[in-house]
Amino acid sequence: MSASTDCIFCKIAAGEIPGDIVGETELSVAFRDLMPQAPTHVLVVPRGHHENAAAVAEAAPDTLADMFLLARTVAEQEALEGYRAVFNTGAAAQQTVFHAHLHVIGGRPFTWPPG
Ligand code: AMP
Repeated sequence: MSASTDCIFCKIAAGEIPGDIVGETELSVAFRDLMPQAPTHVLVVPRGHHENAAAVAEAAPDTLADMFLLARTVAEQEALEGYRAVFNTGAAAQQTVFHAHLHVIGGRPFTWPPG
């Protein structure tokens, strides 16, 4: 799907507004979250506009795979031993930006269930 003109993550991915970009591929872009929940908190987004992870999987499965590979690259760059990779889907799950984004979170201890 092509870029959406009023989508902030489309604009960051296109370089139209600034983002703290830490990695990119032909299909996806990684940038630091504005309000990090951990020492490393990076968002990996598809360059094309899709509302959520399942929409990416349906329309562009290669892009979804690329996003997980870029997440791994970022984790290696940041020397993370492990990381949490999360897609929030829907307002009830606290999705606030409706352009699919993979949260890559690491550099602090984790407990389960998430807190
Ligand atoms: P979610 O709640 O899963 O939709 O996550 C959206 C995330 O985007 C939040 O963690 C925000 O802090 C982050 N965010 C919103 N606007 C920006 C921006 N311009 N640059 C970087 N991160 C952003």
